[in-house]
Order: sequence, then structure tokens, then C-alpha cells
Amino acid sequence: MTSREPNLNQKLVRFARISYQPLIRLGFAFVIAFLVTRFQFDYIEALLYDGRMRLRPAPTVSGHITTVAIDPKTIDRLHRAPDAKDHTRLLERMLEQKPKAVMYLIHPSELVGSYEELKAWAETAAQVPGFVIAVDDVPMKGAEEAFRLSPPFESLKADAAPSTSDRNLFARDVVTRRMFTSYQGQTFLHVKLAALFNPKIRDENRIHGIFDFLDARQVFIDFRPAGSYPVHSFIDGLEGRWQKDDLRNKIVIVGRDLRTTVKDYIRTPYSREINAMTAIEMHANMLDTLILNNGYYKLPDWVNIFLTTVISILTVYVVLALKPTRGLLLLGGSVLSFSLLSYLLFWWGTIWVVMAHPLLAAFICYYFFIPYRLIMENRKSWEYLQKNRLLTQVEELKTNFLSMMSHDLKTPIARIQGMTDIVLKDPTPLSERQREALQTLEKSSHELLDFVTSILNLGRIESKELRLHLQSKDPNQLIQEIAGKFEYLAKSKNISLMIELEPMFSIKMDVDLIRQVIANLVENAIKYSPEGTRILVSTEEAHGRVVIQVADQGPGILEDEIGQVFSKFYRSKDAKYSNIKGSGLGLYLAKYFVELHKGTISVDSAPGAGSTFTVELPTDLQEP
Ligand code: ADP
Repeated sequence: MTSREPNLNQKLVRFARISYQPLIRLGFAFVIAFLVTRFQFDYIEALLYDGRMRLRPAPTVSGHITTVAIDPKTIDRLHRAPDAKDHTRLLERMLEQKPKAVMYLIHPSELVGSYEELKAWAETAAQVPGFVIAVDDVPMKGAEEAFRLSPPFESLKADAAPSTSDRNLFARDVVTRRMFTSYQGQTFLHVKLAALFNPKIRDENRIHGIFDFLDARQVFIDFRPAGSYPVHSFIDGLEGRWQKDDLRNKIVIVGRDLRTTVKDYIRTPYSREINAMTAIEMHANMLDTLILNNGYYKLPDWVNIFLTTVISILTVYVVLALKPTRGLLLLGGSVLSFSLLSYLLFWWGTIWVVMAHPLLAAFICYYFFIPYRLIMENRKSWEYLQKNRLLTQVEELKTNFLSMMSHDLKTPIARIQGMTDIVLKDPTPLSERQREALQTLEKSSHELLDFVTSILNLGRIESKELRLHLQSKDPNQLIQEIAGKFEYLAKSKNISLMIELEPMFSIKMDVDLIRQVIANLVENAIKYSPEGTRILVSTEEAHGRVVIQVADQGPGILEDEIGQVFSKFYRSKDAKYSNIKGSGLGLYLAKYFVELHKGTISVDSAPGAGSTFTVELPTDLQEP
């Protein structure tokens, strides 16, 4: 058996495999996570960002904002675009309702009218509380003068309320996701107006999710789907159809929704249509993001790197170490849980977990390591196949060799037995020592012959040469013959061999094989039993089967060995270390022979309580 034990070299290789393989896998996972996070996958991330926004229940509006739109209905009714006089009348309507602030998205330079009419508009506008003209521009520091309006509008305030879309940066899909809050230290209009309802955000650092971008500070907008804000038609205002308190205490955004220019519309995470949302509603969303302080907080890069690394490690582990189905379930479950968590954080905490990197890392690790695993497994099964082939060849060689040797040994042993017999029976007197020597010689040659016969039988079984030669034989008669043969052996150990046979008819059996089976059981019983005990061999017929039992008062068999006594070459520990001779083949062959007869063999035994071996043979066995 020593040849099966690994040598030092193999042990070292195994050690290296055991301790370094996980490290190498870990290393791979780190490298992939590192490489993946070096690249920006803005477009994919934008899709995941938009997906989360669309899937989450739409946030409620603050209720502090309302809008007025110059819509197609207004043009229809007036048969033209509203002029300066119409705008003045609209402002008068607004004044009646006392809004908190008015954000005019229409620049005065776009108003049509005489100088006097424009002046009248400017004067009315100046009376409206919090009236401000929103300019879609970012002023340079010190160049704020550029926003100063020329007469007759000089008394009105214009302020920066720029919109921004991912045109050249990030996802480059021209979708509006962010808004400016300040630039070079100048706070923009949205913050100032939103602070009317949420004063805390005057301190920019308290704006949720605010981040630095070049010289500016920005925040991701908490968008609602288009149509979330009340829209009042310009013409309804002019014609006195607004409800009494529609604008009271609200920030009113006035703009255009005429579908004539793309400038008045934006694309949003909800829709990439060119006119997905009016600029009016975009400003409303921007203001509400600040009023409710719900800007999206993007988790820092280190969190992203950490999550990507964890998912990479998990994927590599799953692909290389787990069974495919379990692995796939675990990986799918983890990816799903990660996505669900990202979604819930997005929804409940307005926290943005970057998903593109971890998901891509999982994908890359999976597709990178699957072929690797396949190659490894292929190699393993190839090695296994080769080993198996070699083992079968060795086994065949061994059996052939043993059969050949045993065959050749049989004749000389028989000759020794014959010669010993002749000398023992010879009338010439022998000295006591000579007689003892000859008797030992006879016993040893008998043991040797038994051993050789067992090996030969094994060879026959393994080469599948064994065929049953059925003859009719009375089992009782067979048992009596066998008992007669073993009487001498039993007596030599002062064992009484008792026989209890129920009369029965002959049955079909291979007499030679069944003789070997019963002889083996009786011999074992004598061999393993201590002196002065009793052995009972009995037969009976039950349920159409012949039941033969050999019971002894020997040492019995340990519980954990009982299942193995019928295995090839199995000898119990006690038997191995005692001087009781045996090959460990007897019961293996017995089982094989009995099963060839479609019978069964079993043992009932307990340590110290003796053993009872039971053979059951069918009474109606047919020729195969
Ligand atoms: P062996 O040549 O060792 O007797 P067997 O195949 O006949 O081989 O028996 C296998 C093992 O079963 C024996 O080594 C012994 O440990 C156990 N065994 C068989 N018969 C008995 C018995 N009657 N009492 C106790 N142990 C037995």
C-alpha cells in the first residue's frame, strides 16, 4: 500500500495548490475589478440610472410651484402670439393672486410692442413680488453686469438659471439629469427661489447630493414624469378663467409650450424624445429637487471600487469552486440582490450606487473564467480516464498472473498431498516427530490448495468465465458430506458440530459452488470460534426457498465491519492481527456464487454473541 501514499514531491505540489490557488483567484478578481473601474461606462450607467428613475414610484411634488404656458390654445384664440400688452394684462391677473415669486422664461427682448407698451409691461412686472427673468446662461465672475437689462427694463432683475444636458460629457445622450447650483461662488436663481420655502439650502453644503464639477457645483435632479405640475394656459389667465387662488403664495414659472422650437424642451431620464418635457417643467423639477432637498447623492468612488471587487471575487469563486447550478443560483441571487439594493437606495434614500462597474465585472469574470474552468475540468476527466485505463490494465494483468500462477501451483500441491498421504498410510513405522512433520505438511498443503482455489475462482469470476453446471442435489446430503469433512478439524478444537436438518427434496444447484459456500461458512465458524464451543448447521424450507444456517458461539463481528465481510479481500481487524489464516476471499466468493443461484446470503452477528450466516436458495432454479 505504500506505493499509493503521495511522495514528498506530490505533497509539496498539493500544498502549493492548496495554499496558492485561492490567492491566485483573489489576485485575478482584484485585477479585473481594478481594470474595470479604470474605465467609464457612462452610457451603460446612464441607462441603469434612468431605468431606476423610471421604475421607482414618482416622487410627489412640493405643491409650492405652478406654471403658466403660452400654449397652442393661446395662439388659436388670439390668432397671433401674445404681445407686450397681453403680457402686461397677464401680470395684472397675477398681481391679484399674490404669488410668492414669478420666474419668467421669456426674455423681454422677445416681447413685441411699442416702447410705451414695453415700458408699461416693465412697470407692472416690477410690482409683482419676486419677479425675475430667468436667463439660460452662466455669467463669468465679475461679468454679472452682462445680465443688466437695458431700458425700459432696467428696473427688472435677471438671474442665471441655466439648464444643462449630457451633451459632450457623461452619457453624451443629450438627456438632462443635472442642474447647476452655483458657478465660481455665485449662487444661481433656483437656489435663491427654492430657499424661499427651504431656507436651509442657502448653505449650499446642505444641499443633498451636491458635487463639484470644474468651477461649478451641481446636483442631480429628482425628476418627476412630464405632466406632474399644474399648467395654466396664458389665454385662460387673460380671459379670467383661472381659479381664485391658483397662484397664491406659489413660485410661478411662465414660459412657452408651442412645439415650435427645441429650445423650449428637454430630454429626461423618463424619455429621450426631443420634446419629452417642457423647459417650464424642467425648472419646476429643479426647484422641487431643492425645496424637498432630494438631489441624488452619488456614492464615492471607493464604494464603487469596493463593490466591484466584492462582486468580482464572488464571481470567480462561484465559477471556479461551485457546482454549475448552485454557482449560477448564487451568482444570479447576488447580482439580483445588488440590483434590488441599488434600486431601493435610489428610491428611498436618493442614493445613487454605480451599477455599471460591478455588473460588468461580474459579466467579465464569468465569461473569462468559464472557459478556464472547462479546460481544467476537461483535463481532470482526461487524467481520470487515463488513470482508469491504466488501473484496468494493471488489474487484468494481476488477475491473469494470479490465475496462471495458481493453475501451475495446483499440480505440485496435489503431488505433495498425494505423497504425504502415501507416506502416512505406509505400514512402515514412523517416529512421532516424522508423523507430526508429515501431518503439518498435509495441513499446510491443504491451506495452500484452498488459497489457490479461491484465487482461481476469483480469476474465473473476474473474467466472467464462470457458468453454472446445475445438478439435482439434496442440500441435506451435501451438508452431511461437508460436516463429515470438517469433523476432524472441529474435534481438534473440541468444538461440537451439530446438525439439524429438515427433510427436503433435491434442488437444482451447481454442487461444486454450493459445496464451497457451505464449506467456507462451516470452516469460518470453526476457525473463528474458541475451543469448547458449539456450531449448529441447520436447514429448513420456507416460502419456497431452502434456508441453510451456520450458527456459532464465536467472537461475533463488530457493527461497523458487518457490512464489509462480503467484500473482496476483506478481513476484520481482529482476524488480520490473529494467527488465523485466511485470504479474505471466502465470503466474497460465497456471496457471488449464491447470487449466481438467485439466492441471498446474510449475517446476523454481534460482538461476543456469535454469528449466524444464512443462505437462502430458490427451489425452482432454471437452467440459464
Ligand atoms: P477469511 O479468509 O479471512 O476467513 P472470509 O471472506 O471468509 O475471509 O471472511 C471475511 C472476514 O469475516 C473474516 O476475516 C472474519 O473477520 C469475518 N468472519 C467470517 N466468518 C466469521 C465468523 N464465523 N465469526 C466471526 N467473524 C467471521
